[in-house]
Amino acid sequence: MKRYVTLFMRAVGILGAILVGGLNAASSQVVITNSDEPTLYAYCQQFQTLYTQIRQQHITPDSARMQFSGIMRGLQQGFRNNGPYRIDSLERDSLRRTGRYFAFPLRGYTATAIGGTHGEGYRGIGFDLFDYKVRGSHPAQDIFIVDRNQDNLDDRNGQPVDILAMTGGIVLAIETGWQPGSEYRGGNWIWVYDPVMHGLFYYAHNNRIYVSPGQWVQAGQKLAEIGRTGFNAYKSRSPTHLHLMYLQIQPDGLPKPMNPYQWLLTAKLTK
Ligand SMILES: [Zn+2]
Repeated sequence: MKRYVTLFMRAVGILGAILVGGLNAASSQVVITNSDEPTLYAYCQQFQTLYTQIRQQHITPDSARMQFSGIMRGLQQGFRNNGPYRIDSLERDSLRRTGRYFAFPLRGYTATAIGGTHGEGYRGIGFDLFDYKVRGSHPAQDIFIVDRNQDNLDDRNGQPVDILAMTGGIVLAIETGWQPGSEYRGGNWIWVYDPVMHGLFYYAHNNRIYVSPGQWVQAGQKLAEIGRTGFNAYKSRSPTHLHLMYLQIQPDGLPKPMNPYQWLLTAKLTK
């Protein structure tokens, strides 16, 4: 147990150095491997495997739930004894109410790019992360760019649009191999675990991804470039957008979607 925590502390120590030093994305990559201990990176691998199994329906929803909960408890335990991440639920609630904690996830865009006029694109009811067959919910906000010719580039300047991390955290898993014709809806996605909030951010439909599992990212750091990957997102009826979801991990280790709309309204913008 002691060594286990030590490994986390080492990772957190490096994160601290990154925050202080303001290093760029390339040098902030932290991958910790140790064959006989559950490391941060091992949790990333477990999560990636589990999520792939869920998507391919190679695991029953019940055992997926159990494994997921184990990974989340492991991550939480690993960070629990470390100062910056020791946060009680009151503090967490107050963080959530303030925009200062969050970066708007599209560079060069503002809350007016969010689908709908009051964030009504969010539909949390009926969501089940562990059962790929369950459909109909949309526990997320879609944020659209100006891309009428659907070439993944911003019509205003012909440039790709950067997807930025909303908060700091560790990249748990990514998908980079989506191809047109694939039935997978998320396309090229990224999962980031925020140990302060004890929650997961999910960024979907990306084109190119610039981070890898085990890497620490800071709020506002580039994760990817916006794209049209995903079964529905690729279709011409779908305007180019980011699909942004946040899952709050509950005391039992299971995820509950929360509407990130208020955070997006007050998040720090990046030009
Ligand atoms: Zn969406």
